[in-house]
Amino acid sequence: GALPGWERVDELVQEAFDRHRADDSGAVADYIPILGAADPALFGLAVVDVTGGVHDVGDATHLFSIQSISKMFVYALAIQEHGHERVREIVGVNNTGLAFNSVMALELNAGHPMNPMVNAGAIATTALMPGATPAEKWERIREGLSAFAGRSLAMDGEVYRSEMLTNQRNQALGRLLASYGRLEGDSDDIVDVYTRQCALNVTAHDLAVMGATLADGGVNPVTGERVVSADVCRDTLAVVAASGLYERSGEWLFEIGIPAKSGVAGGIVAVAPGKGAAGAFSPRLDRAGNSVRSQLAIGHLSRALGLNLFASA
Ligand code: GLU
Repeated sequence: GALPGWERVDELVQEAFDRHRADDSGAVADYIPILGAADPALFGLAVVDVTGGVHDVGDATHLFSIQSISKMFVYALAIQEHGHERVREIVGVNNTGLAFNSVMALELNAGHPMNPMVNAGAIATTALMPGATPAEKWERIREGLSAFAGRSLAMDGEVYRSEMLTNQRNQALGRLLASYGRLEGDSDDIVDVYTRQCALNVTAHDLAVMGATLADGGVNPVTGERVVSADVCRDTLAVVAASGLYERSGEWLFEIGIPAKSGVAGGIVAVAPGKGAAGAFSPRLDRAGNSVRSQLAIGHLSRALGLNLFASA
């Protein structure tokens, strides 16, 4: 069935927030130096339903870098551009079972990135974006993610520069992909565009709108704009369900039962197809790299709203 009425959802969003606001477990990511400066007390939660109803609590309009959550939206844009078959062949859809930045995963599979939610697959996906130059690809990504969010998104220059100084590993993944003939164009240029996409600033509210666009068959329920097709939403959410929460993707699906994607700045977006989406932000992460409070709040909502996709009643 659909979500309950607006007021009931509003109460539950507040409840999910209140219940978990005092949790201070986990640690802020610092492998990208600037992320270590985030205020760990921040916590925001937002829900947007497919009719455009909005619920924001706490720091739901605080800006942070989207990081790995960009991967799912760039993937959607790439499928929209090239189609299901071509993207599947180039990037793959299987879980690697290894860390998001694993070089071994690429080596073990003869350069096949395996899926677009880990860095190698995400870099291969960014390379698929249309544009004759890196600047054009970047603009297509920024515009595409802005259409999902329903507002013009901008990059955080400080986050971009901080990561560019420390992203030798992603550059290595880019070069390995190129050596296997799985990346068109200059690999350092593509990694530069990938690093920019990760540095796009969003809020928990933006993530909820972006997710709700995928829940709504590709139409942004706030602006009314069609961003991608319904088939693209289905494909994207399947891959997110399998690999969205790093090495904890299986556990998440087992416990919570809806596709979700996290990023190391502390954001998580979770999508209930045909119903709506939740966006959450809090910088402290578990050991796999997923925001602790964001997982708890979204888990609470999934149970309270009966969102688990595998439940028959
Ligand atoms: N830009 C980060 C990286 O490539 C994203 C990591 C993440 O959010 O998982 O390392």
